[in-house]
Amino acid sequence: MPSEPLTDARVSPGDFTVSLPGVPDGDADVAVGRAGEAFRGWAECPLEGRIRVLERCREVLQSRSEEIARLIAIETGKPIREARLEMGAVVAKFGLAFADAERFLRDEEIVDGPHPAVIRRRPRGPAAVIAPFNFPVHLGHGAAVAYLLAGNPVLFKPSPLAVNVGAAYAEAMASVLPGGVLEFVPGGAATGRALAVDPRVRSVCFTGSIPVGRALARELAEDYSKSLALELGGKNSAIVWDDACLEAAAAAVADGMCLTAGQRCNATSRVFVHEAVAGSFLERLAESVDRYVPGNPLDDGTLLGPVISAEAVARYESLVTVQAGKWLRPGGRPGGLGGHYVKPAVLVVEDCGVLDRSDLAQRETFAPILVVETIRDRDEAILRHDAWDFGLTASVFTEDSGIFDFFAARLAVGNVYHNLPTTFSPSTLPFGGWGRSGNGHPGGRGFVRFAADEQSVQWGGLTR
Ligand code: NAD
Repeated sequence: MPSEPLTDARVSPGDFTVSLPGVPDGDADVAVGRAGEAFRGWAECPLEGRIRVLERCREVLQSRSEEIARLIAIETGKPIREARLEMGAVVAKFGLAFADAERFLRDEEIVDGPHPAVIRRRPRGPAAVIAPFNFPVHLGHGAAVAYLLAGNPVLFKPSPLAVNVGAAYAEAMASVLPGGVLEFVPGGAATGRALAVDPRVRSVCFTGSIPVGRALARELAEDYSKSLALELGGKNSAIVWDDACLEAAAAAVADGMCLTAGQRCNATSRVFVHEAVAGSFLERLAESVDRYVPGNPLDDGTLLGPVISAEAVARYESLVTVQAGKWLRPGGRPGGLGGHYVKPAVLVVEDCGVLDRSDLAQRETFAPILVVETIRDRDEAILRHDAWDFGLTASVFTEDSGIFDFFAARLAVGNVYHNLPTTFSPSTLPFGGWGRSGNGHPGGRGFVRFAADEQSVQWGGLTR
């Protein structure tokens, strides 16, 4: 945990280079042992008692919200206005999760069976929450609160790229929760893996990249009663139909592409625009994208902060060299700024087939890069959309609700939005990816269903 409050003195705003204290790796084995010891007591605390404790956690996090938001901005480069929204979502998550617990954790009476019976929701045991860097508090927190409400102790492993943020969050939660109920386990891949494969850990929520998620699923296949929620990457599309309000669609696409510098699982990275409006749409898109000017994440007015690391810059640079179609905005590094800043890049291709085998087409870019493709009809849009087998979010821009319903019913995607950015995923809804993007809909609203297991209880009556 950070030994002293972080100050802006450690930040050099000119080039936004940051120096933060290191956090030593945790001991996964010891942490799992402590969580195991805390399990029985926490599981036997009635739901009302767990809610009361978590209400106090909410008060502590609310009181530290601005401090942690600034830390998110400093450590990850997320613009402060977005970091504040993240902390707002963290505080709001408690109330939503309490309502979910009332709805999904209570005993359910079965009245049509041969004997009196209920379906009871029982905790699974210690649960590992393995978090990514891009929403370093919000995503892990959503899973953690659900696991805790359902009676499971949590092992919280933050991204090593946001370990100070993770430490501040865990410290706030653990200051209220009984010992062992929330264990902070900093570290990298080895620590995450050690937690996930430990047989005493009975549930894992992994939010991160597809290769790691796939490797975890393979490793955990033997221990098949351990539940594994995979919240993985996306390559999310916007479909702009010929009747859309082009100005609004362009603004929403630019937001979806550039928020968090494109480092969101639900970022917009592809657009299918109807050929009849392609020219007008691109004019407006260029204007909207140009609003995203790189700047210091601690400034209230900054919309585009740096990407997370030098490796992320190198990946971005290799992607924007693609020689196909025409770059509407070529991207590149902004002059006069050090740090990991990159500019938004927009590529327009007539036929995306020419890109099909490139990294730009096959991989999640996790940077402000967009590929725009012209389509002629609905079937072509669906064919192109589903060809890449990512299935997280999609947006359809049209003034005709019939067109939207057509796409919503056919696109292979876990979350589909009408006239909203692909990034507009509120905590009031379930969230999760199909295809390569995850294993269904475990996340977001209703995660508590996944955090508990069902037990059928039946009373045959006394025989004497
Ligand atoms: P990442 O996969 O590199 O790391 C995620 C977490 O897994 C980190 O805590 C990391 O230390 C840990 N980890 C790495 N290797 C591991 C292993 N072998 N075993 C166990 N844990 C391991 O991802 P990232 O770069 O931090 O985050 C970006 C990725 O997360 C993107 O792909 C993004 O789309 C995805 N993401 C998905 C969602 C969603 O809800 N679907 C939300 C946010 C981010």
